[in-house]
Amino acid sequence: MVVGINCGHTIAGAGCGASGIINESGHTRRVGYALAEILKSSGITVVDCTVDRAASQEEYLKSVVDAANNRMLDWFVSIHFNASAGHQAKGVEVYTYKGRKYQDALAICENISRLGFENRGVREGSGLYVIRRTKAKAVLIEVCFCDNREDVRNYQQIGGESVIAEAIYAGLLDRVENDGIPFDEYVGAIAVRDWQKRKIILPSVVVAQAVKESGWGTSELARRANALFGIKQNGWTGKTYIKTAAEQKKDGSIYKVENTVWRAYDNWEQSIIDHNDYIASRSTDGGRTLRYAEIIGSGDYKKVCRGLQHCGYATAINYAESLIHDYIEKYHFDRFDET
Ligand SMILES: [Zn+2]
Repeated sequence: MVVGINCGHTIAGAGCGASGIINESGHTRRVGYALAEILKSSGITVVDCTVDRAASQEEYLKSVVDAANNRMLDWFVSIHFNASAGHQAKGVEVYTYKGRKYQDALAICENISRLGFENRGVREGSGLYVIRRTKAKAVLIEVCFCDNREDVRNYQQIGGESVIAEAIYAGLLDRVENDGIPFDEYVGAIAVRDWQKRKIILPSVVVAQAVKESGWGTSELARRANALFGIKQNGWTGKTYIKTAAEQKKDGSIYKVENTVWRAYDNWEQSIIDHNDYIASRSTDGGRTLRYAEIIGSGDYKKVCRGLQHCGYATAINYAESLIHDYIEKYHFDRFDET
C-alpha cells in the first residue's frame, strides 16, 4: 500500500494556511508527519506531497498534484485545519470526490469526532483542486477549526497531533474491526435493521454469507471494492471491479473465469443493502417470477441457505451446508434472528 500525504499549505507567503489561535500550516505538518511515521512503522510506503514554498497559490496546488500523480498511490491524504469568518464554527469534516462516503472516510471522521469534536461529516469536495486533480482515491481532512477556542482547547488537551494521527491511521486501515466492533456484529447490526424494515433475508444468513464470501472482510473485493458478497454485474449500473472468478462445476471441478465484472460500492453498508435488494428483485424472466421467492421473509435459516443454493445463488456445491455448519451454527449467528 502506498499513501501520499500532503501537509496542507505552504509554510509562509503564497499558499499559506489560516492563522487562527494556532497556525494551520504548522499543525498540518505536525499531524501529517506524525501520520507518516505511524504508516511507515507499519510497513506502508509514504510519499511526501507537501510543498513548503510557492510563488503563487496556483503554483502551490499544481506542485502538490504533480507530486501525488508522479507515483501510483492507493490513497492521497491532505491534512488541513479549518477556519470560519466569525470563529464560531467547530468540528471535523472530511472531503471526498463527489462527497463519496467511503468506508475509510466515514471512519476517519468518526474517529476524530470521538476525541470530542463535532462530526460535520463527509462532504462534497469536487470543487477542491487537490481532490479533483489527483488520480488516487483522495481525502481532505479538516481536523478541526484552528480559530475556534473550544476546538483548539480540545485539540491541545487530547494530546494534539499524535492522537489525531492515530485516529486518521485507524480510519485508513482499521476496516476489518471497524473501531473495535467485530466484523460479524458490524454486519449483523445492519442485517437486523434491514430485516425489521423489509423482511427480505434472515440476518443470520446475511452474516454467514458476508463472513464466508469476504473472509471476515479481508478479501480483495471487500478491501478494494467494498463488496462483501461476490455479486456479479447482472444489470447493475453502479461502479464495478474486475477480477477473476472461481466457479465450480456439478462434478466438483473448479474453473476460472477471467475479467469477471463485479459490483463495487462506496462502503460495506451499501454492499449489504444491495445484496438484500438483489435477493428481493432478482428475476431471469423480466420480473414475472422472482428467483428467490421461496426464501424471502422465511425465518428458518436452514431453509434459506438451501433455498439460496437451489435457486442458483452460488455454484459451489457445498455452499448451503457450509453456511449452516461452518458459520451459522459454529459462530451462533442465529443470535441475530432473535429480534
Ligand atoms: Zn487549509
